[in-house]
Amino acid sequence: MPIGRLISELQSCGARLADPTAGHESRRGGAGPSDHKAMTIDGVTVMVPVHTAPAFASPYIVEKPDAFGKSTISRDGVKLGDVSFPTRPRFYDLTTADGIPYWKLATLHSRDVLATTVLQSCIRYQSRTKTCQFCAIGQSLAAGRTVERKTPGQLAEVAKAAVELDGIKHMVMTTGTPPGPDRGAAILAESARAVKDAVDLPIQGQCEPPDDDAWFARMRDAGIDALGMHLEVVTDEVRARVMPGKAQVPLTRYFDAFAAAATIFGRGQVSTYILAGLGDPKEAILATCAKLIALGVYPFVVPFVPISGTPLESHPPPAAVFMHDILKPLSDLLRSGALAATDIKAGCGRCGACSALSTYEREALA
Ligand code: SF4
Repeated sequence: MPIGRLISELQSCGARLADPTAGHESRRGGAGPSDHKAMTIDGVTVMVPVHTAPAFASPYIVEKPDAFGKSTISRDGVKLGDVSFPTRPRFYDLTTADGIPYWKLATLHSRDVLATTVLQSCIRYQSRTKTCQFCAIGQSLAAGRTVERKTPGQLAEVAKAAVELDGIKHMVMTTGTPPGPDRGAAILAESARAVKDAVDLPIQGQCEPPDDDAWFARMRDAGIDALGMHLEVVTDEVRARVMPGKAQVPLTRYFDAFAAAATIFGRGQVSTYILAGLGDPKEAILATCAKLIALGVYPFVVPFVPISGTPLESHPPPAAVFMHDILKPLSDLLRSGALAATDIKAGCGRCGACSALSTYEREALA
């Protein structure tokens, strides 16, 4: 099976771990890839759901790693690939001068990405009628696994250590949306400035479109190299259903912001996360991707993963064939538009572990 197809299968079905302690601790709740574990399959590091309901019944089994940490993945007794797990980062053992463990401030994603949620709360999260139905941003905070507001100084300290001790290559800074018209751009900018003062590390900022496009230049000047503004879903009906609060920001505002941001950050350095499998037809997703690519925006299409404890925890993930039918033509669209995951300076598109998209891109070039 081509590796892109296998990754789509795994991200749809999840995997059962013969040894649940394999690899370093997986994260449950929070922003980004929750209920997953990072694993490297035939040289490609991907996030595979292991704590979701579909994963518990998955036909894919990852064997207990041997003494060298090597394992295999199989289905129906047939070996499909070699597996290893990124090791626990050394910066996880450190603590700030004020007593906060570094792992509560930022975490390792995939194998070389440092990820943090600068503000672990959101104006939309408290209200059932406004919250994004797929989001678990408050869960890790409620469980005491993170702190609500990471200061610029704390993030700089962690980033420096993660680069020096663990060879981290780029950083993702996301944020819940605070009250106020900048939508989080200001705290991303001040955090990026502090990190860049401490260590040379490419940074992606992720926020909603700020009300004033002047924030794009401010964020770039503060040290943000790439920007993510995440559509999540693309049709009005699905937007209103799964993210009733965020849907109040119209798609036209997103597209105006994409165009403005692309002129500041450059073609291919602005991206958007699109969750496939929540009801948008594949034709609508591909049409939106074509529009984005024309603007120079990289559409990072990932399969929806139901996170335990969220309103969508019982919503099924998309079938692997649905993802294949999007990612295959999308990789062709990206090539025609001269956009590539490998050209992105920092962030989810560059990391690629939550989707098989970059693998499809590589396979299209082979
Ligand atoms: S794609 Fe983004 S969210 Fe997923 S593991 Fe990589 S950095 Fe984290």
